[in-house]
Amino acid sequence: MNNVILVGYITVPESELEEVKKALPTHIANTHNEPGCIEFNVIQHVTEPNRFDVFEQFTNEVAFAKHQRNVENSTWDALTKNVKRHYTKLKLSDLIGGCHCGKIRYQLTAYPFDGDFCHCRDCQKITGAPTSAWMDIKKSQLNWQQGEPTEYASSQAIRRGFCASCGSTLSYRSIEHDNYISLAITTLDNPNLMSPNYHIYGEQQVSWLQLTDSCKKYPRQRIV
Ligand SMILES: [Zn+2]
Ligand SMILES: [Zn+2]
Repeated sequence: MNNVILVGYITVPESELEEVKKALPTHIANTHNEPGCIEFNVIQHVTEPNRFDVFEQFTNEVAFAKHQRNVENSTWDALTKNVKRHYTKLKLSDLIGGCHCGKIRYQLTAYPFDGDFCHCRDCQKITGAPTSAWMDIKKSQLNWQQGEPTEYASSQAIRRGFCASCGSTLSYRSIEHDNYISLAITTLDNPNLMSPNYHIYGEQQVSWLQLTDSCKKYPRQRIV
């Protein structure tokens, strides 16, 4: 659980975009070969070509520090001097959260693989908020450390978990996809450790909510 994770994105100036794109595969391959590198992804954004989403995971602080030193001495570092970096650094053990009253506590053993804003009427009614932000994980990567949510069937296949004591919304799952569960991002003790990647049910978004993020918006479910 001492894994170090760096998550965020870089923005590349237009004039340097081609050169950076050309050098990127080598930078990724070199990093994958470093001892202690678990994951290293740099992926061009779907709607913003100058943005590259970054996810790095190393076994511990030492491996991460070595990686940073390697980068400082590499051609990649010289090439990306004008690139703007927006990162959050965290430890896997920081991914803990719970309900408002504290009777339910959980811990994640992996970084969520995706996340979204949902504007559907069910989420609005159940959470009382104009939109909900969910993070997706494998059930096997979630430990309920204390208590467990009570579930409500909001439709035939959907189960929504809440704290029976304080009413906090915690989870969302489909009985048709039994290996996965979503948790409300804002139940993390530090809700800034994860951010949604896209919007769903945009057609039900309340008219008075103005959003300026660059995440892709789907009118209903995501079409992959
Ligand atoms: Zn509670
Ligand atoms: Zn929803």
